[in-house]
This record gives sequence, structure tokens and C-alpha cells, in this order.
Amino acid sequence: AASTESRPFEADVAKLLHLMVHSVYSDKDVFLRELISNAADACERLRYEAIATPALLGDDPKPRITLAIDPEQRRLTVEDNGIGMSRDEMVEALGTIARSGTKAFLDRLQAAEGEAGANLIGQFGVGFYSAFMVADRVDVVSRRAGSDQAWLWSSDGKGSYTMAAAAPEDAPARGTRVVLHLMADAKNYTERPELERIVKAQSGHVPVPIAIIDKPGEAPAEVADGAALWTKPKSEITPAEYTDFYRSVAGQFDEPALTVHYRAEGRQEYTALLFVPGTRPFDLFDAERKGRIKLYVRRVFITDDVEIVPRFLRFVRGLVDSADLPLNVSREMIQESPILESIRKGVTTRVLGDLEKFADKEPEAYNKVWDAFGAVLKEGLYENFERREGLLGLSRFRTTAAPEGWCSLKDYVAGLKENQTAIYYLAGDDIARLQASPHLEGFRARGVEVLLLSDPVDSFWVTMAPSFDGKPFRSVTQGEADLALIPRSDSGSDQKPADDVPTADFVSFVKTTLGDAVSDVRVSERLTESAVCLVAPTSGPDRQLEKMLAGAGR
Ligand code: ADP
Ligand code: MG
Repeated sequence: AASTESRPFEADVAKLLHLMVHSVYSDKDVFLRELISNAADACERLRYEAIATPALLGDDPKPRITLAIDPEQRRLTVEDNGIGMSRDEMVEALGTIARSGTKAFLDRLQAAEGEAGANLIGQFGVGFYSAFMVADRVDVVSRRAGSDQAWLWSSDGKGSYTMAAAAPEDAPARGTRVVLHLMADAKNYTERPELERIVKAQSGHVPVPIAIIDKPGEAPAEVADGAALWTKPKSEITPAEYTDFYRSVAGQFDEPALTVHYRAEGRQEYTALLFVPGTRPFDLFDAERKGRIKLYVRRVFITDDVEIVPRFLRFVRGLVDSADLPLNVSREMIQESPILESIRKGVTTRVLGDLEKFADKEPEAYNKVWDAFGAVLKEGLYENFERREGLLGLSRFRTTAAPEGWCSLKDYVAGLKENQTAIYYLAGDDIARLQASPHLEGFRARGVEVLLLSDPVDSFWVTMAPSFDGKPFRSVTQGEADLALIPRSDSGSDQKPADDVPTADFVSFVKTTLGDAVSDVRVSERLTESAVCLVAPTSGPDRQLEKMLAGAGR
């Protein structure tokens, strides 16, 4: 028709589609999770907009998602009565990728295989386009809530799409209908038991009821009730239900390492259902990536764009449902709200507390969490002064005694040598090189354990003069080593030469020779085999930080 307009996809979309269609993902089922999650988002956005404009709900106030199957036509339809899309919104949402970091994502997708690829799709939320993994044509008919005009978007996923006005009788009264013309090898998605199994497994806990219709005109049968899992008592929720919920809320395919579910009463009333993922999400260090905790107010989804936990907990996924925040308040105002501030405090304390208990009870499992997220948690050591003590307690370190294992500071302090008053560390780029450092000789000779710090963040927090259990952190490359009082445990001896004069002469000879290149030259117990080593002054940056700052051109 004359009113049908054809447009090319944005270059990144075309590339993404090509990758998705041509890589063989082991788990194509994810497309359904993505479409259902979009439908649920649309219902939640409508519920939110209807707070200010109740008329948007018309005479159809109950959110619903309906899946219709047609095996003869090999067609699967996913329909919602949510917010819908205007023409411009469709062009924007289904023809471009607005998200930042798309390029990085595409590169990773190209490199990943199988489940890892599918996992990436979920995490990045390029969800809609995953429909083209199973369909060779996708039609989207949508009507924005409050609008008379519906629009039809259609594409074979091969570089372009068409847009046209849709006749009222071909469109939902409100919301969006996604029609998938399935490829021959995706026929299984029109088999009811199969579809039901997938929906229950992937989307059983989305907060909107989901029904399946077998034949046109037939009444829909509910497969998921849309009840908010987090409002149920803990004792009524199985581990499998928690895992399903985690997967749908976090877009991950793994098991959560830790589940934190509680209801706060008192100053603030809210429910939190939070998860520490079992594996590290690929974009953990992406600076633009905000936290992934959703904010609800009395079961109405408000936003996932406010900071509910500090940055050093940005790997935590899940949601917080507040009973106290007003519903009709802008997102900007929520971010500034003292109620949110107090929730943030409470949630942070609770998550850190639960991590601590977890570390006590299941040290092995906790070490895996530390493997994945330790570098992020350590950012809190310099960003957040009040939490430092707690975070130090959670921190785990490679040490000279156990370069492959993880040592807590509690254990370190328990193993202090006679007269040892400080927690010694050596910072650098990699553990193997640190272990070979001559700075460690004198410490080894006394059996004094030294923390080996190889994360870039380490050089920053250690300069903030932290202490643990009253013991200050001291760099072994800095200042005097103070080792004289600690007896040697090897066969060597510390006995100074009977006559100190030659040493003093030697020191002044070295001083004159080196001139301004060094600020001081000292005799030290730090070394047992090497003749000399460089150390930094007691105050100021240690050697590793000096190197990093020099590298950054500062
Ligand atoms: P994301 O959900 O992470 O934004 P998607 O690729 O899944 O990414 O969807 C892109 C956008 O398309 C959504 O943000 C939304 O604006 C729009 N969209 C997709 N499906 C629907 C729907 N059923 N109803 C309304 N808008 C939708
Ligand atoms: Mg989506």
C-alpha cells in the first residue's frame, strides 16, 4: 500500500541480527523470555503512568499477557495490554539500539559461543531482536494507551523493516501484539506442553499473569499467576522458585550464590529480594552501567534507574518494594528522597551482614563470590569510609603463605609473629612477580606473612591509612621495615658486624655516588640475599602507586 514505508535498520542492529541468526545458540528458548519480559515491562509502565492518568486503563484495568499458538500456520503470538507504542516509539525501539556499550557487546557476542552467547543477549537486554532466532518474519502491531491509531511494524530481519498504519480490527485495543512466523525447525514453540514448560521455567514469576490460548475464540488458560514472589513468606518459597525469579529479574542463567530476602519494618517499611550472582556479569566494570536493582512501590514497578546500593555493590541484582515512597513522584525526586536514602543504608547493611554470615558458614562458596566480585567490593574501601571496617572483614587476600588461596584479615592477624605490630603488604601487577620480590626476603626469613595485592584498586585504598583490628597496613616497599624486633625463624642470623664503621662508610659512599637520585640510603633487615632494594618514603604513595601515577601521566 502507498502508506507502507520501508526503512533500513541501523547498522548495529543489522550486525546484531546477523550474529543472532547465524550463530547456533544452544538455547533458543530465551527469545520467549525476552518477549514476555518486554510485555510485562509494558504492563508495569502502564500501571505507573495510570497513577497520574487513570483514564489510560479504560475498562481494562487488569494487566495480562497472552500467548496464542497456531500450529497450522506455524505462528506464535505474544500479546499484552500494556502501554503500547506510538509510531515514533516503534521506529526508535525496534530499529535502533539506543543502549550504550553496544559495540563492546557485539564484539563479545562475536567471540562467545553457545550458552555464553545466549547469556549475553539476556544481560544486555537486546531482547526483542532475539525473536529472529526462531522466526523468519516478525509482525508487531501496537496501539499506545490513549491513542486511536495502531501501527504495524514488520520485518524479515534481513536489513530493513516496514511501517504502516494498522486497521483497528487488526490491532489490540491497547498494547502490543508480536506475531512470530516461525522457521520450520522452531515448530516446537506451537506445541502447547512445550510452550507451557518453557514459560513456567523462564517466566513463572513475572509480575503479570500469563495465559495460553490454543485455538481462536477459546478461553485462555493461565500458566503463571503474576503473584509477586517477594510478598510471599520465605517459608513458602522453594529454592527453585528463587532461582527462576533470579534468572528472570537478572537476565542470568546461573544459580545465585546468595539470596537475601527480608521485610524491613520500623522506620522504613519495605521488602527486599536481592541476589548475589553466581558468576561475574560481562559488563561489571562498565562505568556507564548502573545498578540493576528494581524499585517498586507497593508492587508497582517504578524504575531501575535509581541507586539502591552503593557502587561497590553494583553486582547485586533483584528488587526493593517500598511501602513508604509516594507513587506519584518523579524518578529524579526519588533519587534525592530521604526515604530512599534510608532504604539504601538498610539494604547495604543487610547485604554486607548476610555476606559476612555466608563467609562464616560457607567459606568455600564465599571465596567464589570473592573471586568474582572482590575487586568491586574493594572499591568500597576507599569510597566509603563508614563501611571500611566491615568491608575489610569481608576482604580476602593472596599472601606469601598461601599465594593460591584466600586469606581473611582475621586469620592474618591470628598468625602475627612475636612483636609484629603491622599488617604487611606488597602491591604490584601480578602475583608471580610479587612473590619474587627482594623486598620479601627479610619477612620470609622471619616467617612473617605478607599480603600480595595485585588488583589496580589495591594501590588506592591502602594509601588511606586503613587499619584492621588496631593493626595498621604497612607497605614492605616503604619506610623502615621494623623487622629488628621480630626474631628470624630461618637458619640465618641478624647479627650486625661487630664494627659498624665500615657499613657507615659504605652508606655515605653510596649516598655521595647516587646524589639527588635518592633521598636516603639505609642499612636494613629487609634483605637476606639481595644486596640492595628501592623503597619509598614512609609517607606518600608506595612504589606501586607511584608507578601507576607515572603511567597515567600525572
Ligand atoms: P529492553 O527491553 O532492554 O529495552 P528490548 O530489545 O527487549 O530491550 O526492547 C526494546 C524496546 O522496545 C523496549 O525498551 C520497549 O521500549 C520496546 N518494546 C518492546 N516490546 C514492547 C512491548 N510489548 N510493549 C511496549 N514496548 C515494547
Ligand atoms: Mg526487553
